[in-house]
Amino acid sequence: MPRKAGEKAARAAIVEACRWLVEAGLVQGTSGNVSVRFGERMLITPSGVPYERMEPEDVVAVELAGDGSSFRARGGNVPSSEWRFHFDILRSRPEVGAVVHTHSPYATAFAICRKELVAAHYMIAASGGATIRVADYATFGTQELSDAALVALEGRWACLLANHGVIATGPTLERALWLAQEVEVLARQTAIALQVGTPVLLPDDEIARVVEKFKVYGPRGTDK
Ligand code: 13P
Ligand code: ZN
Repeated sequence: MPRKAGEKAARAAIVEACRWLVEAGLVQGTSGNVSVRFGERMLITPSGVPYERMEPEDVVAVELAGDGSSFRARGGNVPSSEWRFHFDILRSRPEVGAVVHTHSPYATAFAICRKELVAAHYMIAASGGATIRVADYATFGTQELSDAALVALEGRWACLLANHGVIATGPTLERALWLAQEVEVLARQTAIALQVGTPVLLPDDEIARVVEKFKVYGPRGTDK
C-alpha cells in the first residue's frame, strides 16, 4: 500500500478505535488515549479533543527518533498529554505495535485501592503473566508516570496506573483494544467474586500453560 494511503487508514483506525472505546464504556469525554507504531513514527490521539469530534486528520504524528518534541499536527492540536508513556513503550518494546490507555471503571477501582489483578480467571494470562501490576502513582502526563508504567509492564502487555487507569498494549491495535476490554472484565469479575466469597486463584504452572496458548489465541479478523 502506498505510504500516504497507509497513514490515512491508520489514522482512521485510531479514530474508529476511540469511538469503540467510548461505546464499550472503557473511556468517556476526553479520558484515555491511543497510539500506533507507523514506521519511524507514532500516530497518537490529540490531547483533550472529545472523541465524538475527533477526525483522522486530528491524529498527531510524532517522530520516534529524538526526544518526542518533533511532531506534525493540524491546527492547534498537540499530542496526548500521555505521549511520554506511549513513546517510551513503543521505543523500548519492539514487539508492541499499539498502546491503549483507559480509565475503565472496575480496573480503575483496583488501581485506586492499589490492588493488582490476580489469577482469579485464566484470562489474566492474556496480559502475559499471573498478575497485572499497579504502577506507582505519579501525576498524569509526567516522565515519572512513564517510568513507573514501564516498570509495571515488565514481561506484561498490560498494567494498572495507581489512582488513574489502565495501559493495554499489543502487537496490533486490535489486540490492544481486546486486552483493554479483557482487563476491565477481569477486574469486574474479581470484584463480584470478592462479594460472593473467597476467590480460588489458579496456580502459576496453569497460568504459564495458558500464556503459551495465548501466543496463538486471540481475536481474529480485520485489524482495527
Ligand atoms: P489526553 O486528552 O491528553 O490524551 O489525556 C487524557 C488522559 O487520560 C490523561 O491521563
Ligand atoms: Zn489517563
